[in-house]
Amino acid sequence: MTTNPSPIARRFAPFGTTIFSEMTALANTHKAVNLSQGFPDFDGPNIGKDAAIAAINNAHNQYAPMPGVPALRQAIARWASRINKIDVDPDTQITVTSGCTQAIAATMLGLLNPGDEVIIFEPYYDSYRACLAMADAKAVFVTLHPTQNGFAYDPKELQAAFTNKTKAILVNTPHNPTGTVFTTAQLQEIASLCIKNDAIAISDEVYECLVYPGHSHQSIATIPGMKERTIILSSSGKTFSLTGWKVGWAIAPAHLTAGIRAAHQFLTFSVSTPLQFGVAALLDNGEEEIDKLLKHYTHTRSLLGEALDELGFKASLPQGSYFIMADHTQVTQRLGLKTDVDLCRWLPENAGVAAIPPSAFYSDPVKGANFVRFAFCKKTETIDHAISRLRNAL
Ligand code: GLN
Repeated sequence: MTTNPSPIARRFAPFGTTIFSEMTALANTHKAVNLSQGFPDFDGPNIGKDAAIAAINNAHNQYAPMPGVPALRQAIARWASRINKIDVDPDTQITVTSGCTQAIAATMLGLLNPGDEVIIFEPYYDSYRACLAMADAKAVFVTLHPTQNGFAYDPKELQAAFTNKTKAILVNTPHNPTGTVFTTAQLQEIASLCIKNDAIAISDEVYECLVYPGHSHQSIATIPGMKERTIILSSSGKTFSLTGWKVGWAIAPAHLTAGIRAAHQFLTFSVSTPLQFGVAALLDNGEEEIDKLLKHYTHTRSLLGEALDELGFKASLPQGSYFIMADHTQVTQRLGLKTDVDLCRWLPENAGVAAIPPSAFYSDPVKGANFVRFAFCKKTETIDHAISRLRNAL
């Protein structure tokens, strides 16, 4: 008897189905409150929707130029100057992508050669590793360890991760899933290692506007010597609660943009034209919407944080992003369970709440086994509902 080998290419074998699809499916099966995959359960602002609808009605329905519609690239340049604090040329330094996830793919495929090493902090957003595998590059991991207030890397471990094969380091601040906002001192330390080792920084800043009182976001591109070696990746999904629009961008010096575009033109060629007009309107006129959103998330963050604390989860409130990463050891022991995966399988069925097991975000799953990630990018009533279900079940 012959066994059919899997038709899936070997490079994807280690990754299986993404944890986000798996947990959202489990939440749907059990009609659980879905605090797993990070997407809002409310709609994005009218400013963006109206502009996108107007674009559709005004015949902006054919292919956009490969790097993005000029109006959006100009709006991104103004945004970069306000939010990321760097001045860029919209023609040669900005590429519009299908969400930040495709910007990550275009960056890795367009700039890495087989065998190049890329340092990534773990826990990491799962697509980083899969894209490195697609590019035949090697991931080198530096762990963010839990500390008294949040998560941080060990400078010695960071230094040791750089070798003569290091091509890039991926910095994600505010960080998913830990909510860490990197400090200026940390960015300076990373920058000096990049400069010393002639490495580039791939800076995923999708949560750039979701930073809570007492903290502020800084792009590593603003550290002296870094603008020429930094690629900023971001999107409209988190900032404007439009995760389904999948409009993101890559900002990079012209020589690096050339590599990103070399891949982007063959991955998607271009991105949905009318939605690009919608995002342009939001970037220029969405400030009040961002303020409102941030107030709301500040509220749901403390609601959920306090409830988790009271239930025996150990977590410090995230400095940024819309996730709480908590240590679940006390809770799982009480339930007779062990790992994050046990807990995240148990929760939807028995408590009616879904969460993410962060072991999926570590090179060695054991390192994430004591944590659980909850998303609080939901209506207040949804968070209340989740809390009362957790209280009943735990
Ligand atoms: N970034 C989102 C999260 O961490 C989800 C992205 C995705 O579904 N691929 O929840």
